[in-house]
Amino acid sequence: MVYTAKENRYEIMKYRRCGKSGLKLPEISLGLWHNFGGVDCYETGRETVLNAFDAGICHFDLANNYGPPPGSAEITFGRILKENLKPYRDEIIVSTKAGFDMWPGPYGEWGSRKYLIASLDASLKRMGLDYVDIFYHHRPDPDTPIEETMAALVDIVREGKALYIGISNYNAEQSARAISMLNALGVHCLIHQASYSMLNRWIEEGLLDLLDREGTGCICFSPLAQGLLSGRYLDGAVPAGSRASRDVFLKSSSITPQLLDKLNALNDIARESGISLSALAILWILRDSRNTSVLIGASSSSQLKENLSALSHPPLSAEELDRIEKILSNDLLQIQEKRVN
Ligand code: NDP
Repeated sequence: MVYTAKENRYEIMKYRRCGKSGLKLPEISLGLWHNFGGVDCYETGRETVLNAFDAGICHFDLANNYGPPPGSAEITFGRILKENLKPYRDEIIVSTKAGFDMWPGPYGEWGSRKYLIASLDASLKRMGLDYVDIFYHHRPDPDTPIEETMAALVDIVREGKALYIGISNYNAEQSARAISMLNALGVHCLIHQASYSMLNRWIEEGLLDLLDREGTGCICFSPLAQGLLSGRYLDGAVPAGSRASRDVFLKSSSITPQLLDKLNALNDIARESGISLSALAILWILRDSRNTSVLIGASSSSQLKENLSALSHPPLSAEELDRIEKILSNDLLQIQEKRVN
């Protein structure tokens, strides 16, 4: 398929500076954790990536283990790059990670120098790239000395295999240690990739303040709580093909009557504001300027389009935020009474 990027691709998306760095990221980025593996339809994945790029999403997030099978999302992305996006490489931020289970034996996971360097080399090969823009340590390692992990990341930057370094899933205390170690080694920690959504607010308890102080950006993954904060489950049914129907990463048992009350109350606000629930969830994250980018997933271009519609809405008003806060701080009885009346 011949592809030429839309000329107006940077007109709607806004870009936020990543901490105190020189790098800006789009307010919405696209992750390839699900839907881009060897088991998925290549054409659907390609169309989603190209539509994203046409809408100003110039940051694509991967990891060594994304698939299934592990590694295959990087192969898919490498093919899209080769066939369609190669002329635009300098416009694109590609990130990948290592930390989770990737190959058998003692060197296929966690945070040793041995694993991180071998894994990034394999990721580069799968994607057909000479370098990635951001390389993350995917999860803290309880056993490897943090000095070893951080020194390996720094060497990766010095060798030119990654332009920037990030950490993911580190709590505030672990992040503080990692960031100060990287500083001591002369490389700034560009970014932290953390889960965050209206249903999961742990980063508000210390991590965001730390990142702000250190000038490290924050990119929020699973912003729709893997689809719960979209129109997908509002009536309590689990649609065939949805992530909850696969019951692995998103358990259908998590869709409780209490959660449905909350989701529907949030959806009422979205409807009154003339937007979808997923757009509301994205705008809610963007209310805080410390959140550099909202890292969404999408299994189709139509989901992507719906999520991108957040950008054509003004920031949420103080009144909307206040109503959302009341729902999230969860006086469910009141929510139910209000919905019944
Ligand atoms: P989301 O919370 O955005 O969930 C995405 C899923 O929700 C989609 O695949 C789709 O699932 C559903 N969905 C999205 N939009 C809509 C819509 N408009 N209407 C209906 N359903 C919708 O994010 P993810 O959990 O996918 O995470 C995003 C990215 O974050 C990942 O790709 C990855 O890059 C990163 N990540 C990083 C982690 C880390 O440890 N660092 C961990 C997890 C994710 P479906 O259609 O299948 O139901």
